[in-house]
Amino acid sequence: MSFYIPTNIFFGEDCLKLHSDYIKTFGNKALIVTGRHSSKKNGSLNDILSILQSINVKSIIYDKIEENPSVGTVFDAATMVKEENIDYIIAIGGGSPLDAAKAIGIIIKHPKCTYQDLFENKELTSIPIIAIPTTAGTGSEVTPYAVLTDHKICNKRTIAPKIFPKVTFLDVRYFINIPKDITISTALDTLSHLIESFLCETSNPFSECFVEQGLRLWSECKKGLVSDNITKKEREKLLMASTFGGMTITETGTSLPHGMGYPLTYYHGIAHGKATAVFLPSFLKHYKNQEKVEFILKTLNINDVDNFEKFIKELAGSVSIKKDLIEKYSQKIYENKKKLRNHPYDISKEEIIIMYEESLNI
Ligand code: NAP
Ligand code: ZN
Repeated sequence: MSFYIPTNIFFGEDCLKLHSDYIKTFGNKALIVTGRHSSKKNGSLNDILSILQSINVKSIIYDKIEENPSVGTVFDAATMVKEENIDYIIAIGGGSPLDAAKAIGIIIKHPKCTYQDLFENKELTSIPIIAIPTTAGTGSEVTPYAVLTDHKICNKRTIAPKIFPKVTFLDVRYFINIPKDITISTALDTLSHLIESFLCETSNPFSECFVEQGLRLWSECKKGLVSDNITKKEREKLLMASTFGGMTITETGTSLPHGMGYPLTYYHGIAHGKATAVFLPSFLKHYKNQEKVEFILKTLNINDVDNFEKFIKELAGSVSIKKDLIEKYSQKIYENKKKLRNHPYDISKEEIIIMYEESLNI
């Protein structure tokens, strides 16, 4: 049994400014990796730029990271700064910029890294990453994973090297104005991480501490999530639950709902958290160890799986696809050995098809 999280975590308002001396220790030139708009609006980009100026660190901004970033984008960013002697990366945004930054950091450190190396060579390392998340969902700020869209296989894929950010700064001020649909989808991603981790083969007493604590915090935000005015306190709880979700999947990985959701994102543009969470009710219903399922529901303060299903529908709505796609998507997850390995017992393609049919409008 083991548990390893090497990321330094600072939580609280203004934590970036409070630790600017520490940021200075990473070097003299930073690449800022972010999305197109949100970091300019929520104050995070301005905050880091003024801190870098105050500590005399030069920076270059790459602000073209799209949602579900592609392999092409990370090579584009690394190529842009190839002659710049970048010491470290500051990643700002949701899981997409954070994951992209991990891959960009690898290519900067290993300029000969190929498309194939990213997915096959576990030995590659990265220049240091500082993560400033602005969505509460993926937990990427503390995980070693980076999920990229690989158009060659028409799916999403985790890169082979494990890259933990060196440090993460969690400041709720950057989360206050997240629109409702993104708040819900990212919160559902956290919920999926906590539940899937607990039901993974690799779950252990260390990871389960984070699951229990994360589910409790998440449960306290249920009302806020369905209402139109989620409070700052609730956002803070979701942020902490998201980081706990990241810590637990770092140990256990994720499971079937994540693998089943990837084609919904790739082919239908459904946001990652929603694409995953729609499978949770069916996943819980069929899971063999119902004692563990009861623990999850009790901690979430939800009576039974039927009520859980109603709640997920209320938050996520429903997802419709054509029936003949189910066979193709089931085959994809059936071939995803990593996700199947995390499931504690053998599962047939027919059982996966049933979960797709129960979870989607067909
Ligand atoms: P995201 O794709 O990073 O961002 C979604 C949207 O939210 C973007 O339009 C973004 O705008 C916007 N946004 C970000 N912060 C905002 C803020 N504070 N206020 C308003 N809008 C904001 O979404 P995500 O759900 O966080 O990340 C999903 C990605 O993470 C997927 O690729 C998924 O596979 C991956 N993932 C990774 C892990 C891991 O362990 N590494 C775990 C789960 C999921 P801008 O583009 O303008 O910034
Ligand atoms: Zn996820």
